[in-house]
Amino acid sequence: MDIFIPDSETKLYGLLGKTLSHSISPSLHNNGFRDLDLNAIYLMLEVKDRDLEEYILSLKNLNFAGWNVTIPYKEEIIPYLNGFSSLARDAEAVNTVLNRRGRLTGYNTDVIGFQRQIEEAGFVVKGKRAVIIGAGGAAKAAAAALIHLHLAEVTIINRTLENAAEVVETFREKTDKVEFDYKALKESEYKDKIKNADLIINTTPVGMYSKKGNNNIAINPEYLNEKQFVVDLIYNPLKTELLKEAEKRGAQIGNGLPTLIYQAEASFKLWTQEMPNKKKWKQIAENAVKDIEAKDIEAEE
Ligand code: NAP
Repeated sequence: MDIFIPDSETKLYGLLGKTLSHSISPSLHNNGFRDLDLNAIYLMLEVKDRDLEEYILSLKNLNFAGWNVTIPYKEEIIPYLNGFSSLARDAEAVNTVLNRRGRLTGYNTDVIGFQRQIEEAGFVVKGKRAVIIGAGGAAKAAAAALIHLHLAEVTIINRTLENAAEVVETFREKTDKVEFDYKALKESEYKDKIKNADLIINTTPVGMYSKKGNNNIAINPEYLNEKQFVVDLIYNPLKTELLKEAEKRGAQIGNGLPTLIYQAEASFKLWTQEMPNKKKWKQIAENAVKDIEAKDIEAEE
């Protein structure tokens, strides 16, 4: 195998976040660059909160062509950017930055990735009712995507009620074509919403391997049924307890892997105007998830 040797022309990309050990983005993007013979490299850019402004300045000075942004900086990065795509504006979060001669534009390819997953699953969003569990960045990206697809009603269910209320308020200001509601993550509060929903999306980390224990499913699955599409944005494990319970009840299910791959694909295209090999990326992502799972199990033993 040829070894890639960077030179003064090499385009620099990376992932900006606080804790990055589990990310599969470097495997995907570097594979895409090598596969298409692009003189580019994707690095891990781990940064503590207090350094964010200084760090972004360094990325500009080093002439990074672009970077992804992950937890907890998807919103914090906003003041340092010069412009935004409409989807980033809708989601009020940025996961991809493009640097054009020092002018930084923020995009949200999580929205694109989630939208594509829903469409490819054959689920028609128009006129449907959705429940989103969680009120963080992933919840906002999911809501923005569904609003774009002409959803009729969305309820945000969250552990901290004020956070759900805040998300609903920001979306209410953007559109009056969708019915919004929010509920606390308490069975008595959410059960009717879950029963009557066509689409249920878990955007909390509840169900991830590292969160194993008694509390590994965010809602009581009793209210799920065969008419629903249940999506869990977690991809580690590929089938969470929520998805297992939904499947048992005959619901259509989807894990977080397609959104993850499609958001990376959209960032790659934005930066390079080229498309990576779809099959290869799927294989890389699946293998990387297996590696992460194995490491998590090992760490717990
Ligand atoms: P975030 O902004 O930190 O939001 C996390 C949300 O989960 C908050 O609403 C939080 O509730 C809730 N939550 C956290 N721990 C909880 C618990 N123990 N019980 C109940 N609710 C809990 O994070 P994010 O960016 O939205 O990401 C959330 C998850 O989505 C990630 O862990 C990841 O698995 C997944 N994700 C997947 C993709 C993908 O491409 N597949 C992309 C992005 C995210 P409070 O408001 O009460 O704190």
